[in-house]
Amino acid sequence: MSARIIDGNALSQKVREDIAQGAAELIKQGVQPCLAVILVGDNPASAVYVRNKVNACEKAGFRSLKFTFPVEVAPDEVFDKIAELNADPSVHGILVQLPLPRQFDENKVLEAISPEKDVDGFHAENFGLLLQGRKSFYPCTPWGVMKMLEAENVQLSGMEAVVIGRSNIVGKPMAVMLLSQGATVTVCHSKTRDLHFHTRRADLVVAAIGKPRFLTGDMIKPGAVVIDVGINRLPDGKLCGDVDFESAREVAGAITPVPGGVGPMTITMLLANTLESARRVAAAKA
Ligand code: NAD
Repeated sequence: MSARIIDGNALSQKVREDIAQGAAELIKQGVQPCLAVILVGDNPASAVYVRNKVNACEKAGFRSLKFTFPVEVAPDEVFDKIAELNADPSVHGILVQLPLPRQFDENKVLEAISPEKDVDGFHAENFGLLLQGRKSFYPCTPWGVMKMLEAENVQLSGMEAVVIGRSNIVGKPMAVMLLSQGATVTVCHSKTRDLHFHTRRADLVVAAIGKPRFLTGDMIKPGAVVIDVGINRLPDGKLCGDVDFESAREVAGAITPVPGGVGPMTITMLLANTLESARRVAAAKA
């Protein structure tokens, strides 16, 4: 059996067309969605991520602002910029690209962003709302996964789902979102004793580990849905996921590729959150 490929590029394009239309409607009401991105230091991967986000904004008709700081910047300078953007009513989303240099306490930075403009969904207030099943800005990567599962008509209620990874930005919110849709969720991590035992009985596996080709076909239940969140750069410069695509596709029922799977959906959901924030501002004005 060869798995159905879940095409993140195609879904992303479709959702971004709707977002661009939504932005055009808001612009007619005098509100142009605007995302401000802060980049600190010279991490080349971060620079690429920021460029992709800025380009995506422009294609969707959003305004985008980019602020760059040198690696040795004093944290107060960045906090001042965040405060200025929090106070600017024309800015609807603020994003600080992670990771930050060592002099920063990342949690403090994320919490300096107003929860109403936290379009990455990393602020403790938004995370708490998500845990309680209340409306918030959802973290973009797991929300993108949920959109993919919805588009694939995956019936999550009652499903055995295994999430590998427990980070604050992917694993934990992913588990909460799946739980909220009625899945029975197991979270596996680096201390899990018998990972195979868990993954082999899962109807859905989400891999967010950061280890190239870690989840192999023999670890997957035949017919399972496999979502690969991983983005790993190989020595030859190519990208690969946390799933060994070639062996996994022979066993899985459906699978996301890397690249072209979850990655494009992450930026799409960032646009969706920024549009939602701008809509709230427009509604408050009306
Ligand atoms: P992280 O390093 O914060 O977390 C990795 C998790 O994997 C940890 O919770 C750890 O316990 C678990 N883990 C490590 N070794 C393990 C093992 N042997 N068995 C089981 N679990 C193990 O990483 P993250 O930020 O959650 O990112 C995970 C991956 O997803 C990375 O490859 C990252 O690049 C990628 N990522 C992709 C996107 C996207 O847009 N597609 C967004 C964010 C992260």
